[in-house]
Amino acid sequence: MASIKTFRGGRNGGTYKCGVCLRLTRKTTEGQTHLCGQCDQWTMQENLLNDSGESMTSIERGEVEQLICNLKMEAAKKGGDRARLGLL
Ligand SMILES: [Zn+2]
Repeated sequence: MASIKTFRGGRNGGTYKCGVCLRLTRKTTEGQTHLCGQCDQWTMQENLLNDSGESMTSIERGEVEQLICNLKMEAAKKGGDRARLGLL
């Protein structure tokens, strides 16, 4: 079991606002930009599309786009901002 630390007072107890969907999420990565698990993944997939999308088949691109869409919807379901996720 992971140990759970609670902070009282002004601290924000190990959570941060996701830089994309703005939902409050528990910090899972050190450093880097603060993203929730879903946004971390879909932005990574989007980078992949930008970097090597041209060498993919249209089917492969479609699969990655679908994955990105699923991750965005998952983030929205968990309280992410739909407009910020491009879902509106
Ligand atoms: Zn997010």
